[in-house]
Amino acid sequence: MSQHIHCIVQNCHYWQQGNMCAANEILVATDKFGAQEPDDVDCSMVQQLTPQSAGTCMDTCCKTYVPKGSNKIKADNVQKMF
Ligand code: SF4
Repeated sequence: MSQHIHCIVQNCHYWQQGNMCAANEILVATDKFGAQEPDDVDCSMVQQLTPQSAGTCMDTCCKTYVPKGSNKIKADNVQKMF
């Protein structure tokens, strides 16, 4: 099974030309969760996370986002596939 995620957040470490996400996995979460949890709480911990509900799409975020050049790129163990 191959991942196929489109994204227009061009300053993310995982963003690639053509508006593609090159992360091997991402965690989508509520904005509240994203704001509360540190960068190392991401895909590798997904089995331990409690599902939450959101209102509209504006209440959700990509928890895997990390800015290009950030020193936190390796914090979540997510791999860049291409
Ligand atoms: S990790 Fe999230 S923000 Fe970054 S390119 Fe992928 S989908 Fe977009």
